[in-house]
Amino acid sequence: MNKPELLAPAGSLEKAKAAFLYGADAIYCGTGSLSLRSRADVDDDELAKVIEYAHSIGKKVYTTINIYAPDTVYEDIIKQVKMLNKLAVDAIIVSDGGIIDIINDIAPDIPIHISTQANTLSAHSANFWYKNGAKRVILSREMNKSEIKYLIDNTPQGLETEIFIHGAICWAYSGRCYLSDFMASRNANLGDCAQSCRWEYNMYIEEKNNPGNIMPIDEDKNGTYVLSSKDLCLIKRIPEIVEMGVTSLKIEGRLKSAYYLASVVNAYRNAIDDYIDNPENYDYKKYMNELEKVKTRELTEFFFNDKNNKDFQEFEGKQYNPNYEFGGIVEEYNENKSTVKIGNRLQVGDKMEIVIPNKIKVEKFTINKLWDSETDEELEYINPGRLGQTVKMHLPIKSENGWVIRRKK
Ligand code: SF4
Repeated sequence: MNKPELLAPAGSLEKAKAAFLYGADAIYCGTGSLSLRSRADVDDDELAKVIEYAHSIGKKVYTTINIYAPDTVYEDIIKQVKMLNKLAVDAIIVSDGGIIDIINDIAPDIPIHISTQANTLSAHSANFWYKNGAKRVILSREMNKSEIKYLIDNTPQGLETEIFIHGAICWAYSGRCYLSDFMASRNANLGDCAQSCRWEYNMYIEEKNNPGNIMPIDEDKNGTYVLSSKDLCLIKRIPEIVEMGVTSLKIEGRLKSAYYLASVVNAYRNAIDDYIDNPENYDYKKYMNELEKVKTRELTEFFFNDKNNKDFQEFEGKQYNPNYEFGGIVEEYNENKSTVKIGNRLQVGDKMEIVIPNKIKVEKFTINKLWDSETDEELEYINPGRLGQTVKMHLPIKSENGWVIRRKK
């Protein structure tokens, strides 16, 4: 069986480093305002650094130009494609036929990945993209497992497939939605979705023949989150997905923190490797336990098993994890006093966990002392202040630079 690629989002060099350290084979990121997460995009200078770093450790970088583009932005698109060609990006993720044409004309050596925004749902559609120069199709999240298998079995071997395995799902048909445009003048189809489907809504019904008699519909004291979805999580299905022969498994979330990425990538890296090494003994619960620690919404398998599944609505509109939060990142290990870049207020007595790359087991410890990293003065607590602020503490195991530490709330 082939080992699938594990693909993670990364909106900065710091996030890319965290994703690679914790086991991603490749990362994807946006470019300028020409992708579908324009607020999570890296600028050209940072993108050059991300690509240089990735290639130096044998990893890949895919960039998105997956807007549906009006003619007025084609001048920018041409400049962007020329720049990506120069940087030797490993693929461009795209959904608009016009942009595919531009890439085929001026950068024919850059592989084209068809974005999920193109809503590829069938072998017919995938074959169309293949004939038009696609190296990979990112399948629609609305497909179930038998449709995915059928598509893989009925498309050329040279066509790669990618599916989403974890992260936010759209209430609408994968991004084809005007809710955000309507509510916040931010166009989801131009990469600027405000996630208006997650907002709290007051809803009323009014009987037509009795105007003014308005009756509110409340789910609970917080209101009604009728449009908000749970997050996708296919950790339990890794064996089926690997056996199907999907080329690449994608984690969603270009706006997520390095902490979130490290934890989620680590869980899936271990799950994939453990299944390939020992298929008989795959037990998803230990990986799920890790994902539970960083989830910000309830989790769902969406349509993977059953397209009639109705269990994907997030009625409580939850957006945070009540149990764990980011603690910091190891900047320099020392047997007695290690330097940690802080990610939150830390204080003596806090219960912490070190997330170890390529291991599903975490190392637990309690902060027994904190020292100011400049004056060496002992501290009771430290609040995050300036960017990159550090503190010193004793770590229970030899830790590498970049390892993530989380705090039990
Ligand atoms: S508002 Fe929600 S449903 Fe609409 S595109 Fe954005 S995430 Fe998707």
